[in-house]
Amino acid sequence: MSISSNIETAARYIREGKLVAFPTETVYGLGANALDPLAVAKIFELKERPSFDPLIIHIADLAWLEELVMGADERIFRLAEKFWPGPLTMVLPKSKRVPDIVTSGLSTVGIRMPANDYALGLIRACGCPVAAPSANKFGRISPTTAAHVKKQLPDVDYILDGGKTTVGIESTIIKLTEHGFQILRNGIITQEELEEVVPLDSHSEIEKLSAPGMMKSHYSPRKKLLIADSVSMKTDKSKAGLISFSGELENGNRKVIRVSEKGDLRDYAVNIFEAMHAFEDDDDIEIMIAEPVSETGIGKAIMDRLRKAEYNWRQI
Ligand code: AMP
Ligand code: MG
Repeated sequence: MSISSNIETAARYIREGKLVAFPTETVYGLGANALDPLAVAKIFELKERPSFDPLIIHIADLAWLEELVMGADERIFRLAEKFWPGPLTMVLPKSKRVPDIVTSGLSTVGIRMPANDYALGLIRACGCPVAAPSANKFGRISPTTAAHVKKQLPDVDYILDGGKTTVGIESTIIKLTEHGFQILRNGIITQEELEEVVPLDSHSEIEKLSAPGMMKSHYSPRKKLLIADSVSMKTDKSKAGLISFSGELENGNRKVIRVSEKGDLRDYAVNIFEAMHAFEDDDDIEIMIAEPVSETGIGKAIMDRLRKAEYNWRQI
């Protein structure tokens, strides 16, 4: 099967109101026609996602912004010009065309244009915007390959396989206020890069309600994961899998996955979920230990994922 015929097949499924897992540059998404509430309901059902956690709509053409957003202002187009296609989601006032189920009843909608040819090809071929959260069971590790999707969602109607994703962690999410932008979720597009286009809104508090789905526990592996700082001297490392960044902590662990050869944080992002999946599936490993990084730039997004993955396991 050629790439284009796979995209056509996937697009047909979307048009028929079915679910398709597809690659973006961040992680694999579980997509449905964003304008079809019944199709969108199937996403919540298959993922076992709570209905209060809104979905991001993916578009391939800026013209859809005007359709989906109420009063799109010029800052949005400046941000789109610089960062789209790319891993930036903008939370904006929604138009009536967006079904309430997509936004969990909020008056805003999250929108982005992914930088991945399979994703863009699919969205163009089905002719509608595609609502898609990550293609994993709610709260579990995000998928960066088609095999990861199959492991957690074997019943999905179709998986469009586009190889391993190139960014590896979810998009940066911002909300635009009258004063500027607020970051609702960190990603590889950093606050500093965004500030080159629009000022940071440091006046207003982020309303709790405006950022649902920002749970303390998320991206959670089925095996214990601890950040290396919280590993006690008593921890038996003979069954430990280390997610290593600098190489400094590697001695004494049963297995090691080095996420970057050159100490580049972008490689940590690309490989973080894949390393968690690999240890989760490895019978030799009982506990995963992840090396922390300093919390600046992309490091903020890495530490966000590690803390949420660790959260439930720290309580045990
Ligand atoms: P994901 O499951 O990675 O697609 O994440 C989607 C996340 O985007 C949700 O958990 C929300 O936190 C955020 N999000 C989507 N739409 C909105 C919105 N309208 N307002 C605030 N946050 C949103
Ligand atoms: Mg997710």
